Amino acid sequence: MVAICLSLMILFINNPVTDKIQKVMKFELIQLPYESGALAPVISQQTIELHHGKHLKGYVDKLNDLIPGTRFENMDLEDIVKQSDGAIFNNAGQILNHNLYFTQFSPNGSKVPVGGLKQAIESQWGSLDKFKEEFEKEGVALFGSGWVWLARDKDGKLSITKEANGSNPVTKDLVPLLGFDVWEHAYYLDYQNRRADHLKKNYGIS
Ligand code: MN
Repeated sequence: MVAICLSLMILFINNPVTDKIQKVMKFELIQLPYESGALAPVISQQTIELHHGKHLKGYVDKLNDLIPGTRFENMDLEDIVKQSDGAIFNNAGQILNHNLYFTQFSPNGSKVPVGGLKQAIESQWGSLDKFKEEFEKEGVALFGSGWVWLARDKDGKLSITKEANGSNPVTKDLVPLLGFDVWEHAYYLDYQNRRADHLKKNYGIS
């Protein structure tokens, strides 16, 4: 009996269908690198828990439902965002965006850019304050839901780019360096309609 069970198990393990299922990439909800209340009062514990545990988890679950059986099932997230459209693009884009967003914050950060990034910002915009002014202006001006990014091109030149809904600068061959979520779910509990305050306060923890 044991021998039969063992051979059945081996058959099951070697079954090509099982192999295929095991190779399908499953996207996982990232772990936050800080406690959910660690960014308060700039971003409250309630906002972080809803944003990460409900909104981001929703995108992850949805993408895992959509991907199997498509040409994207063994691709990494960035390639999916570059090559897909429709619901797969929206959900993959939002996972990439939020993975970058949540991991860029720290309760013990330097609060200001340092080193090469500091120099690059100053040479592009003249000063950090001027960059912030432009960044906030773009974030406030973005109509509806989306993201404002600091990104760099292949030559190292920095730019501020706005992306609607779930898009990301990688779709323009840019490398995202800093991303602020201006969907209302990112700030409405803490700042209500004051998107500009959400943008301004967030520099302190980036
Ligand atoms: Mn969001």
